[in-house]
Amino acid sequence: MVAEFSGSGGLFRYEARQILYIPLSFRSPADELICNYKKNGIYSVKSAYHMLMHDKRNKAPGLSNVYHQKLWQKIWLSHLHPRDHNFLWRLAKNILPTKANLQKKGISLDTSCPLCEAATETAHHLFLHCEYTRSACFSSNYGLRVPLNSYLNDWISCCLEDPSSVSDQLKCTVLWHLWKARNLLVYRQKFTDPRLVAKEAMESVIEFNKFNPCIKAKPPAHNLLEVPISFEVCILQVDAGCFDEGFISFGCLLRNQAGRVVSAACKWEEMSANPVTAETLAIHWSLQLAKELKVERILVQSDALSVVNCIISLSLLTDIDHVVLNCQTFLRSFKFASVVFISRAFNCDAHNLVGLGKRLGSRTWLGLPPNCNSISVCPSVAS
Ligand SMILES: [Zn+2]
Repeated sequence: MVAEFSGSGGLFRYEARQILYIPLSFRSPADELICNYKKNGIYSVKSAYHMLMHDKRNKAPGLSNVYHQKLWQKIWLSHLHPRDHNFLWRLAKNILPTKANLQKKGISLDTSCPLCEAATETAHHLFLHCEYTRSACFSSNYGLRVPLNSYLNDWISCCLEDPSSVSDQLKCTVLWHLWKARNLLVYRQKFTDPRLVAKEAMESVIEFNKFNPCIKAKPPAHNLLEVPISFEVCILQVDAGCFDEGFISFGCLLRNQAGRVVSAACKWEEMSANPVTAETLAIHWSLQLAKELKVERILVQSDALSVVNCIISLSLLTDIDHVVLNCQTFLRSFKFASVVFISRAFNCDAHNLVGLGKRLGSRTWLGLPPNCNSISVCPSVAS
């Protein structure tokens, strides 16, 4: 019936094409209603109550409420450099001279974020939503993930949760280094690679702990959120492209922790898919390749933000849900695995492989593709 409607004279040609774009499920799960506000998709009165109370608490005026008192206490008592105490306090009070705050004071200026130029530069954007920030945090030794659906002060509070944890120290310190990188760009037009921001923040924490050894740093946990520094995490950069003739192409590069290309692959397939579906299928395909190469710890990088958000359960897109579920199952089979969004500028090598897929068909190489000059060797993320 769908094929009938999708014909040239069909009344519902667009709708039929959208249906055809949905890849068939590998497991054929039953249809179900999903609540958008819960990670597990199941509505409960308790979750609605917490959502409303959270909102109410954050709108409460003054500094005297219990929530803020606890936050100030956490900031000033945390085992951090005094510079970071001061910075976190100014950040939590929203008194940093961000462009949005300067505009509120009557200064006329371009308020776009200098790091991504994609939104107004508020503290909320700069330290939670900015692509640059998210890349810097995730490229740190601990693969820090900044929550998209959080309030800034909740995130600061979360960063200060465990005063004896190096990862929490790093979460706080990286915020100051992000602000420093932002200021270097604004006032000296000097761009800092986000990976360098993460590296400098880690060095700063190590140096501080060396001269202030009053806490017993806990060894990092072996879970999805925290990666032991000594363990090698491979980086898998993935991209996909859709072509008019009803073909899709995938490209992926596997890099070791030093940034060198271990393997590269492209895939050319006859299939109608929208870009979001193609990106999801590309991640699924690249994870299969990583498994075949016996990779145990992996950091997947994709420039498809909506797909990344679905895979890390921050949002839901029903038409790719079953492929996302398969990706999540795959990810759980690694000793460490995480998926992070990177901007297209940082994913150009995988993008070039998509083009190679169109020219050469499906190929896999150990190391770089022969005669391929367009793949760069990125600097180490951990050294
Ligand atoms: Zn930004």
